[in-house]
Amino acid sequence: MPPRPTIEWQTNGVCNYDCSYCIQSRQYRQGHPSDADVDRFLSFFAALPGVWEIKMSGGEPFAFRGFMTRVIPGLAKLQHRVSVLTNFSAPLPVLRRFVDLVGDKLEVFSASLHLEYVKVGAFVAKAQTFRSWLRPETAFVVNNVLVPGTVAELAAVRAQVEAAGLKYFPQVMKTKRGVYAYDAAEAVLVKALTGERPTAREANIAPSYRGRRCWAGAAYFVVDQFGDAFRCRTAKRYGEGYLGNVLDGTFRLADRPEVCRYDICPCTVPANRGMIEGLDERHEAKPPNA
Ligand code: SF4
Ligand code: SF4
Repeated sequence: MPPRPTIEWQTNGVCNYDCSYCIQSRQYRQGHPSDADVDRFLSFFAALPGVWEIKMSGGEPFAFRGFMTRVIPGLAKLQHRVSVLTNFSAPLPVLRRFVDLVGDKLEVFSASLHLEYVKVGAFVAKAQTFRSWLRPETAFVVNNVLVPGTVAELAAVRAQVEAAGLKYFPQVMKTKRGVYAYDAAEAVLVKALTGERPTAREANIAPSYRGRRCWAGAAYFVVDQFGDAFRCRTAKRYGEGYLGNVLDGTFRLADRPEVCRYDICPCTVPANRGMIEGLDERHEAKPPNA
């Protein structure tokens, strides 16, 4: 699969939840860009050649007022595609307005199920209503972190989500530099949910692609609310792969792929957008730390 140009934009830090297992520390779950900076982000995106998928996350994008007043109306006018990762706490009238504003630009809508804050029945009912508003081409995915100590309950959660005709996407729990070491009993249940060797479309097991050529930095990058851009999430975590700042004109894309040097690829976006060369459908990715 050729790489499909993709940006992961952390539009804001602020979040209206405080999940006990959040990978982002509270210190970073704060703040949002000013209206003027949002306009500068939009100008930067407008000037990018070609069509990119701009996948937004936070914090929680809908917890930032400018997301609905400025970001979505602005992106809807550009040539790019739009995707969102949200905790799905926004009320249905707000979500309806979002669908109307984003129009035919919406590619993937990922709704994370946080069982510390919502009951699965209410979440699924809301998701069914929301799904009915989307075009058939738009992917709607229910993300679920396999939180240690709760995994035994998640087979029933999965069944409820799938019975409603929704896509369930399990994610192993990540730590700062790896994945959580489940105890033996839960590890079996985790495998039952993710499958033994899932593709990046079936589950996120945060595998290792070390040694493969990857287009991150050239056809994919992550950019935070301050405009700082990095090759990928792992590179950012290690303070590497800095591409410059998209707001001050120092941003530069690489012109070629590089060999991955990391033991974890924590997010399935690069794999699912064709960034990692030689990944077949049933990839041979090794689990991290293997
Ligand atoms: S909703 Fe997401 S960003 Fe917010 S606290 Fe929970 S895991 Fe963290
Ligand atoms: S961690 Fe993932 S996105 Fe980053 S260079 Fe390696 S394969 Fe590419």
